[in-house]
Amino acid sequence: MPEGIEVEYYKQTALQALNRKIESIEIIDHAYLSDTYSPADLRDLLIENCFIDAERIGKLLILSISNDYKLGLRFGMTGRLLVDGRSAIKVLEYSSSKDNPRWDRIFIKFQDGGSLSIRDPRRLGSVQINPNLDTLGTDLYEITARSLSEVLKHSTRPIKARLMDQSKIAGLGNLLTDEILWRSSIDPRRQSNALSRNDMRRLARHASQTISELTQLGGSHMGNLQNHRVLGGLCPKDGVPLNRYKIGGRTTYSCPKHQK
Ligand SMILES: [Zn+2]
Repeated sequence: MPEGIEVEYYKQTALQALNRKIESIEIIDHAYLSDTYSPADLRDLLIENCFIDAERIGKLLILSISNDYKLGLRFGMTGRLLVDGRSAIKVLEYSSSKDNPRWDRIFIKFQDGGSLSIRDPRRLGSVQINPNLDTLGTDLYEITARSLSEVLKHSTRPIKARLMDQSKIAGLGNLLTDEILWRSSIDPRRQSNALSRNDMRRLARHASQTISELTQLGGSHMGNLQNHRVLGGLCPKDGVPLNRYKIGGRTTYSCPKHQK
């Protein structure tokens, strides 16, 4: 699924859509709109205007419009952003490897003939006018030992669930969180407030390193644990069979030997 890293790539793609006048919206899938506004509202908002800026907080991409409104794009489990028919990401983890224009949920056409679209087989993404940014925690690229400690110290929830809580840290998804905890030698089920100072420092260090390394390598699926996230998978560090279970509904892999 698109995690913060993938949406950072989408932001780079979106920069190519700036300052191009919007001519029409060819497709609006109702599943992508909230109940509070209609396709006509979205057309009124966009047509004859331009996107003038693209930013990202966590997994939310925010496009500023020349009329001072903002459009928030969420990509759910399988959404990709395309500009002029091209995406920074060819295949997403958890998604179909086929690339079918029938999965376009929003298709915005520019006067110059180009386009911006969201292609999403599972239809779990959304667009929102002026999204509420107050509900988002620290962005994943800005994690520090101090911000982590604030997020973890008062919570009794399993650490993985807390790290994936978007209102606390915005942008960490299932794959990144498992990889970071695996590298940090911390069991994902551990109670958040039970981490020692050393654990916290180690976690913060590995979080920053992992996020920057996987951003370079091409996505949240490029971690060392990734190929071993299968039934019967072995820990690539010490060769013991990985544990497989669910936390917050998400399939989790961890090593019973070195993650404590
Ligand atoms: Zn291990």
